[in-house]
Amino acid sequence: MTSSLAELEQPPLEPPSLFGNTVSGTLHDLSIPIGVMPPLVRESAPAFAVSERSEAFRRRFYPDTNLKTWCDWHWQYANRITSLDQLGRMLRLSPEELAAGTGLAALPLAITPYFAAQFNPDDPADPLRRTMVPTVAERTLNPGESADPLGEDGHSPVPGLVHRYPDRVLFLATDTCAAYCRYCTRSRCVGKPHTAGTAGATRKRWPAAIEYIKNHPEVRDVLISGGDPLTMSDAALDHLLSRLRSIPHVEIIRIGSKAPIVMPQRVTPSLLRVLRRYHPLLMSIHCTHPDELTPESTEALRRLADAGIPLGSQTVLLKGINDNVADMKSLLHGLLKSRVRPYYLYHCDPVQGTAHFRTPIFKGVDIIRGLRGHTSGYAVPTYVVDAPGGGGKIPLMPDYVQGYDGEDLVLRNYEGGLYRSYDPAAPAVCEPHAGTAQGGEPCW
Ligand code: SF4
Repeated sequence: MTSSLAELEQPPLEPPSLFGNTVSGTLHDLSIPIGVMPPLVRESAPAFAVSERSEAFRRRFYPDTNLKTWCDWHWQYANRITSLDQLGRMLRLSPEELAAGTGLAALPLAITPYFAAQFNPDDPADPLRRTMVPTVAERTLNPGESADPLGEDGHSPVPGLVHRYPDRVLFLATDTCAAYCRYCTRSRCVGKPHTAGTAGATRKRWPAAIEYIKNHPEVRDVLISGGDPLTMSDAALDHLLSRLRSIPHVEIIRIGSKAPIVMPQRVTPSLLRVLRRYHPLLMSIHCTHPDELTPESTEALRRLADAGIPLGSQTVLLKGINDNVADMKSLLHGLLKSRVRPYYLYHCDPVQGTAHFRTPIFKGVDIIRGLRGHTSGYAVPTYVVDAPGGGGKIPLMPDYVQGYDGEDLVLRNYEGGLYRSYDPAAPAVCEPHAGTAQGGEPCW
């Protein structure tokens, strides 16, 4: 640890641009190929991959910005698109997007130029665009929705820390993200520094949260989340990781981040030097759709994997975005190729103003049914519903177990065929339950 907390309490860079760049060009000038392109190779190659699509966007809308600057995550962060006016010069906004207005949603608008480059400018149904561009649907509070559906605030012994499970805690290190997902479970608390200029306030919570962990030896696993921890400086991350790693009973440190997807330039050699010091350190990557797997994000994931960081994915099931087997399989296969193990598929939490993203719960079970057996097990995440009120993650599976018939357990395979597995010990196991398997009755 080399920095004091006071030194680290610098708010993240915020628009307006530190580099004096302005958006120019119009939608009608824009001709961007759809799909993932291979990275360009140039004589003065930038320090990061730049796809043809991103390059066309940069030339059109940021002609005064050179490639080196475009590849600087500080520039990407400082030049986030934060108003519909700005966005309207890049995208043909739909009536629903225009009606979102400004300042009405709990969540601000912020999109890195890199990620905006991946949107289809003419199609409001474009999956990536839908995850980031607000619509008027966010104004509606729907049945079953609330600001804090998981009851995190009720499981927070000190500000910025959630202790819901026995042996692990969620450390909310920052309230800031590189880009704001319209379905965010923490829309009640993230993005506030962006408008209120109080980024340093979240860091003031750290000492009490660290002290809590020190005083709870049962905590062996700390998940650093937020907000997005990778919006913090290397020095701030180093400071936090060193404090946590110095606690003897903290075995595992995890970081949850969407930065490798929306601001992949953040994964710099300097960041990797910091992260490497704190193994075992794992990272959960928030990803949504196969179109997110660009040359840039692929490079970010490669760098993280090469640094020895086990990578897992977290995906929210979103209506009209990834709620079909083909897109989900494409995403999961792409992640595995980038050495990211599919980890969780979440039912979309009932956060206020998100009904337009939510599928029926059993849609997720159908998708798992379409994956299990049809692709390698490594590619199949666990589908979970995060129980409202703080019940924790509850996994849901297709009905592979049909029940007992005598001493046979009847199982359904991925093709729908029924198979018997001789299992004579089972009735004793089931004895405490009503309807025990004696006499061939299913025990559940
Ligand atoms: S990156 Fe995570 S915390 Fe930030 S807006 Fe998206 S879902 Fe919410």
